[in-house]
Amino acid sequence: MCDKEQPATVQVAEDAERILFEWCRGEHGRGRPFQDQVLLTFRNRMATVWDLSRLLICLLTMNRVVLINFSGGDRPGLTSSLAEILATYRVRILDIGQAVVHETLTLAILVEVPAGEEFTPLKKDLIVRAHDLDLKIKFTPVSEEAFDHWVRSQGKFRFIVSVLGRVVTAEQLATASSAISRHAFNIDRIERLSGRLSLTGRVENANACIELEISGEGDSSSALRAELMELTHQFEIDIAFQRESIYRRNRRLVAFDMDSTLIQAEVIDELARLHGVGEQVSAITASAMRGELDFKHSFTKRLSLLRGLPAMRLPELLHTVQLADGAERLISTLKMLGYKTAILSGGFTFFGKHLQARLGIDYVFANELEIENDVLTGRVASEIVDGKKKAELLATIAAREDISLDQVVAVGDGANDLPMLNIAGMGIAFHAKPLVRKSANHAVSHLGLDSILYLIGVRDRDLDRPEFRFSSAG
Ligand SMILES: [Mg+2]
Repeated sequence: MCDKEQPATVQVAEDAERILFEWCRGEHGRGRPFQDQVLLTFRNRMATVWDLSRLLICLLTMNRVVLINFSGGDRPGLTSSLAEILATYRVRILDIGQAVVHETLTLAILVEVPAGEEFTPLKKDLIVRAHDLDLKIKFTPVSEEAFDHWVRSQGKFRFIVSVLGRVVTAEQLATASSAISRHAFNIDRIERLSGRLSLTGRVENANACIELEISGEGDSSSALRAELMELTHQFEIDIAFQRESIYRRNRRLVAFDMDSTLIQAEVIDELARLHGVGEQVSAITASAMRGELDFKHSFTKRLSLLRGLPAMRLPELLHTVQLADGAERLISTLKMLGYKTAILSGGFTFFGKHLQARLGIDYVFANELEIENDVLTGRVASEIVDGKKKAELLATIAAREDISLDQVVAVGDGANDLPMLNIAGMGIAFHAKPLVRKSANHAVSHLGLDSILYLIGVRDRDLDRPEFRFSSAG
């Protein structure tokens, strides 16, 4: 590293070289400033001016990578003020990240100080500037080995864990983060996607969502996912676990089941109630949705019980059946963002068409009730839309719109939704029966439909703009 020239100071110079070498290899505590290490080693030695000059030359001939952390009260202009100094010393930015929590800034910059630039004056200038700005500052030298490891680990396994609930508590976070670390994943980023909460004006049915980006060297994601899903039974939260990919924030089509997903009822049960056969039909519906009965068989059986119901009674349901919580906000936002939407339903076309007109849905496929002499015949006038057909229709719509299935979100609650949930890039069991919840990759059981916006990367504050404020249709 440096030539040996003067015997009287050879030992000191060799020590300096050794320290530099070890420092570069990361063999000293990385938290300890380099200068402290030098002083520690040179204690009780009579280092000459020449020794120190030699040490300085060694420092000047190597590029140094240093992590600089700043923290303190946030306000405009901090980054530009600090970057101005880095620019003076021709520093290269290797990585940078910042977070602001409750008006407190945490800024980290990984820099490479080029050969020929002195680090000490840079450090001194930054310390003075940080003091003027009332910021704390910390320098951590990064060894070549540690830097290479950081570069190599860019391609490792990355996932997004979204924790959703009415509130997110420290206990929930502690339990989830403990599971993440036990499975050898690191949390790289944490962000709150839901809006700011007021302590005084508590909002009923408020949403809370925290998004964690995690990474790991090995793919033990299945075991971690299973453990995180267990937490959704322990706490009143939902957890979505997605592989981080380009598709995650670029979904383009969202397909919904209708009954008990977009609306808070099973229309066939409501029709049966109007016809006086409510209990018989409800029992069959519940069993079919739990996956205990073949859908087509149970559907045919239930429909036959509606025979003789006057068609003029169908509109009675249009204004009594409620939309699911958050349905209007979700769909109006999706449309604003250019998503295509579809209803793929094992229910009935008359209700699907009503929702299409009300919400502006692009596609509706459901069962057409056969009507003769103004009464229901108890049969359908078209092919029955069962689970297999829903998946086929979803694939057909995606192909027609030239959308990859990876960019499709499917949402449903029943066993007949599983085929479409399974072929979609993101299949979400919404307030679903246990079998469906267990079989789907994602489940939302505690929040409304609009919480799906968090899963496609939309934050509440993204929508806090006039053009995104939807008007309720009632
Ligand atoms: Mg359903």
